[in-house]
Amino acid sequence: MKQTIIFNKELISRYNLYGPRYTSYPTATQFNEDFGEKEYYQTVIDSNEDFLPKPLSIYVHLPFCNTVCFYCACNKIITANRKRALPYLEDLYKEINLQGPLFDKDRVVNQLHLGGGTPTYISHENLIELIDVIRSNFTLLDDDLGEYSIEVDPREIKIETVSLLRNLGFNRMSIGVQDFNAEVQKAVNRIQSYEQTLNVFTEARKHGFQSINIDLIYGLPKQSVSSFSNTINKIIDINPDRIAIYNYAHLPNLFKTQNQIKEEDLPSPKEKLEILNKAVESLTDAGYIYIGMDHFSKPDDELAIAQRKGGLYRNFQGYSTNADCDVIGFGVTAISKINNAYSQNSRSIEDYHEALGKNKVPVFRGYKLTSDDELRREVITQLVCHFQVEFRKIEDLFKIDFEDYFSEELKILREIEKDALLKISNDFIEVLPTGRFLIRNICSVFDVYHDQENSKSNFSKMI
Ligand code: SF4
Repeated sequence: MKQTIIFNKELISRYNLYGPRYTSYPTATQFNEDFGEKEYYQTVIDSNEDFLPKPLSIYVHLPFCNTVCFYCACNKIITANRKRALPYLEDLYKEINLQGPLFDKDRVVNQLHLGGGTPTYISHENLIELIDVIRSNFTLLDDDLGEYSIEVDPREIKIETVSLLRNLGFNRMSIGVQDFNAEVQKAVNRIQSYEQTLNVFTEARKHGFQSINIDLIYGLPKQSVSSFSNTINKIIDINPDRIAIYNYAHLPNLFKTQNQIKEEDLPSPKEKLEILNKAVESLTDAGYIYIGMDHFSKPDDELAIAQRKGGLYRNFQGYSTNADCDVIGFGVTAISKINNAYSQNSRSIEDYHEALGKNKVPVFRGYKLTSDDELRREVITQLVCHFQVEFRKIEDLFKIDFEDYFSEELKILREIEKDALLKISNDFIEVLPTGRFLIRNICSVFDVYHDQENSKSNFSKMI
């Protein structure tokens, strides 16, 4: 198996800057309120009229959690009162019913993702009802060929919920763990036993869930090289198909609950890098390969196969094997991507409720891409998914001369090439194994909105 990553601490420290994770290009910082309900409707109408309308990807945001994890940067509502979710679900159904008729029925749903918050916070009845509402408005695939996934918190799921989810059509699962160490769990207020995780995983396997992912975080308080290494080894024993290792970015000014984390408990930047280094070493020794942007998978997982065959994609839900879909985001803060436009729903549950009370789609901002944005989005997608850009492919798609159009960017990349992070030839840019962990950094060269100073207030450091 070809080596997919080389972890060079010196280069990683040197290139470790602030920057986006490119789940979209341009990133949400460019969204503005000039794009609203009217623009959204027009975009959807246009997307139905395309020569080949894209299949759909549906994201549903369920923001409720029972307790707060101090590191969390998600949009969530912490409450032990489960009845609080009921009016929100009513609004969610209204939104789905409002949008369903806008999309042509022959546009099948290739991808469905329930995220949060904690999707399994809601009852079995509510989960069934939610899928019924989606099914009555959109064409779901019944042959198990869709990528239908759900985020699962092992503390918040009954074992029988796993079979219910499978019966509802889910076939992928992402399990939140973060760290098994007791001290770390106490410091972040997320107490979750190894057995809880193992039970959910085993049950999911038993019911035929594929490509099961486990989420971990490095850089948490009280973490050390050896403690995180123990967590990684336990995860390797569980044997998931995919593992995501996210960087904890301590930004208490942006995310209030992070104030509960004591700065003195955080590993130093040097130790953090060692923690990641050891984790990467253990995962590659165990046969996992680096897909990109925090994600590892087994070589026979569909993501790795799609990457080898040149068919990997990336959107707000992360990496996917599904061809470029139009994404419809339901729920507070959810982001949609329809053709050449992004749009985002209201951030507050009150504004979301108010808009739906007036039968309006709750879009509060968005962005219509220029042709330059679309071109750069394609280049960044190629880099993020395949670690290379073929000039001719881009030239054919956008009718440009690559070297001429991106002469400034190529100049910057030639400097980076001296550190052997990438190679530029006459036909393509290839990101080398040493540069793969710095892919965000390399992508940012093509991002015209990226500015290191402004990035400090909007994005975390890349590592
Ligand atoms: S990490 Fe997940 S479970 Fe914890 S507070 Fe955030 S959304 Fe809720």
